[in-house]
Amino acid sequence: MDLAETEEEREFRAGLRAWLAKTLPELPPRPSPDDWPGRRAYDLGWQRRLYDAGYAGLHWPAAAGGRGAGPARHLAFLEEAERAGAPYVGANFVGLLHAGPTIAAEGTPAQRARWLPPVLRGEEVWCQGFSEPGAGSDLASLRTRAVRDGDAYVVTGSKVWTSHAEIADWCELLVRTGPDAPRHRGLTWLAMPMDAPGVTVRPLRTLAGSAEFAEVFLDGVRVPVAYRVGAEDDGWRVTMTTLSFERGTAFAGEVVACRRTLGALARAARANGRWDDTVLRRRLGRLAAEFAALWRLTQWNVSAAERTGGVPGAGGSVFKLAYSQARQELYDAAAEVLGADALALEEEWVRERLSSLSYTIAAGTSQIQHTIVAERILGLPKGR
Ligand SMILES: Cc1cc2nc3c(=O)[nH]c(=O)nc-3n(C[C@H](O)[C@H](O)[C@H](O)COP(=O)(O)OP(=O)(O)OC[C@H]3O[C@@H](n4cnc5c(N)ncnc54)[C@H](O)[C@@H]3O)c2cc1C
Repeated sequence: MDLAETEEEREFRAGLRAWLAKTLPELPPRPSPDDWPGRRAYDLGWQRRLYDAGYAGLHWPAAAGGRGAGPARHLAFLEEAERAGAPYVGANFVGLLHAGPTIAAEGTPAQRARWLPPVLRGEEVWCQGFSEPGAGSDLASLRTRAVRDGDAYVVTGSKVWTSHAEIADWCELLVRTGPDAPRHRGLTWLAMPMDAPGVTVRPLRTLAGSAEFAEVFLDGVRVPVAYRVGAEDDGWRVTMTTLSFERGTAFAGEVVACRRTLGALARAARANGRWDDTVLRRRLGRLAAEFAALWRLTQWNVSAAERTGGVPGAGGSVFKLAYSQARQELYDAAAEVLGADALALEEEWVRERLSSLSYTIAAGTSQIQHTIVAERILGLPKGR
């Protein structure tokens, strides 16, 4: 990938910078972290502004309603938005970053037309219903059943750790349709409306005090067959596409955010005298190098995905592994810089530190990413 900017890309960046400078002061105040309806409205409102200005779906193919703008612009957008302090995807995470891209890659033209424009326009929120109490890392052992009844599937079972379930309109749902098939073969990927009769959402509170995810109970929920993405019993393959986006590109913007946080940490250390500690300074320097390398890896993953038809490859697992660990180290360093101040639960630093612990688990644990890297990238023999 040629990383030098073209004249056209420089113009794009300048236009975006001017638009951000004009638009950000017009935004309403950010809602408090626990005000989920408020956060939904805020995040959808921001998405609508991006859409109206022509910046929504830069990374989506034109056939899916996106701008087909190529990796350089997509990455420039992430950098400029973060530099200006623009809101991040928030409640739109699943819809924009992995359910939408999965439908763009695997859905029929009618499905793309139904589901993708409302995501880009900031009208509908998606959540992800993959994990179950007995099926997280071992996702293929999931037990939620879907039985065909005429033109619908009747779904019964339960999901857990469903982020944003309370405020979602749709769920990318993985169910078992072939109970007698080998584990990976009898699964199907469905789009389920969250307001369908039989769906019950029970919020779960995290260590940081937030109710960001929930248990979802499904009791005879009817999901039209037309809402199935991919073929019946072919859901594992479709899910691998979803996970490739989730691990390969979905966290790209957050790398830029971490670089900004690191800068703020260095300034805080200078202000409170901790900067004089050479061990701490070296630690911050090593993190700066780590995040610079992660940004390069992001550029590589995004551009490699574009070259190979839009879906990121197993390289996403290298990124996910390194990024989730670096993020935890960043907030450990923050605790060292801030000292006793890092204990105040109402402080954003503290909330971020607590939530950073979840990054080595969410979207597949580090142990699972190690296995994928060993088997699919290094070609080592399978463990079982
Ligand atoms: C913040 C957050 C948000 C999430 N959001 C969602 C969501 O929106 N939707 C959703 O569906 N899920 C979501 N999840 C769930 C997440 O995908 C699972 O927690 C994750 O896949 C791990 O599964 P588990 O919790 O069942 O742990 P387990 O699979 O029970 O694993 C427990 C431990 O055993 C290790 N282990 C298990 N199997 C192996 C193996 N074969 N080899 C080596 N080690 C192994 C794991 O690495 C882990 O350390 C979220 C999780 C978090 C933390």
